[in-house]
Amino acid sequence: MPTLNENFLKLQKNYLFVDIAHRVAAFKEAHPEANIIRLGIGDVTQPLAPAVIEALHKAVDEQAVAETFRGYGPEHGYDFLQKAIIENDFAPRGIDLVPDEVFINDGAKSDTGNFTDILGRDNTIFVTDPIYPVYIDSNVMAGRAGEFAEGRWDRVTYSACNAENNFTPALPEAKGADAPDLIYLCYPNNPTGTTLSRAELEKWVKYALENGSIILYDAAYEAYIQTEDIPHSIYEIPGAKKCAVEFHSFSKTAGFTGLRCGYTIVPLELTIKASNGEEVTLNSVWNRRQCTKFNGTPYIVQRAAAAIYTPEGKKQVRETIDYYMTNARIMREALQECGITVYGGTDAPYIWLKTPAGVGSWEFFQQLLDEIHVVSTPGVGFGPAGEGYIRLTAFGTRENCVEAMDRLKKWMLKD
Ligand SMILES: *Cc1c(COP(=O)(O)O)cnc(C)c1O
Repeated sequence: MPTLNENFLKLQKNYLFVDIAHRVAAFKEAHPEANIIRLGIGDVTQPLAPAVIEALHKAVDEQAVAETFRGYGPEHGYDFLQKAIIENDFAPRGIDLVPDEVFINDGAKSDTGNFTDILGRDNTIFVTDPIYPVYIDSNVMAGRAGEFAEGRWDRVTYSACNAENNFTPALPEAKGADAPDLIYLCYPNNPTGTTLSRAELEKWVKYALENGSIILYDAAYEAYIQTEDIPHSIYEIPGAKKCAVEFHSFSKTAGFTGLRCGYTIVPLELTIKASNGEEVTLNSVWNRRQCTKFNGTPYIVQRAAAAIYTPEGKKQVRETIDYYMTNARIMREALQECGITVYGGTDAPYIWLKTPAGVGSWEFFQQLLDEIHVVSTPGVGFGPAGEGYIRLTAFGTRENCVEAMDRLKKWMLKD
């Protein structure tokens, strides 16, 4: 008799987006004429850059001719893209990588979710709270998170990030053998839109090196950093190649949420001691895993990704990021004018706002929906420490963003 991987039954229902959808549907039913503006979801709205479209067309045409047709590609990606990534995203920051350390993928969600395939079931986990749900759920599926009670998994350590600690997670208290094995960090952060300074990131690398932890660093929003000296990559910190894997995505950088492409850095210096005493490079094991379970990102998509590193591509991608960051500024200013405390939105496309005193996340969500017909995301949906906060995204159109803020001001400043 076949049995199920019952860890999947332990997964908590993702109530967040289901609940939001229900509330929006109920509101729509009661107010069919309302023009609802969605500032909740994390998808982009601007089209792909012209340089990307041009590269796609060219790569498609290549497929029509026997001489340039491409079938199966290398599982870890084409070297033209690996090299473009190294030359543009790492070399200018003083980080040396070789193509074998760059694994091209179909997006960061796949690799952040799959990477722990190659790590033992008994590893313990550390996350910040609030958090992008994939990190925890993928570990639940693997049976690594333990049991769920009162909003938390018992084999996961949570570090609350809130206004009280300036959204800077505290290092784990446990040291040595008790230290968490796997540490998930995501900066710039989704959902809070906050960043980690170089000095703070140095503490994490030091901790991981001293205590033998591996940092799984999600840099999906790296391209949104505007402030000088905020690290774009954890490898800007000396020693990080010995303790960190880094995930990147073209989804938010260049609007690839539908096209699908990203990459993961697994440094050759990163090793783990197997039970037989052998020192194993995670790079070789991840390569083995990918060659077995993944057949590579489509050639045409990798050509599209490489186009964002051309001079025109870079300029066009930058313009779109500036567009979203202008939305973020418009939102920040309007919210502040209304007396709301806002975080994020300066180095990330997310704004994390404090709900008015005594008003919970869901309550304020409902008020925004009822009063100004704006859909947000209740912070508590990303973890218990998100209670009392709301996430807004800057990925909307300028028109919607301005309209939403006008409605907000009319509502909140009406007297
Ligand atoms: C959007 C996002 C990603 C990127 O996911 P893709 O699979 O590349 O589209 C990764 N991490 C976080 C935290 C995100 O918000």
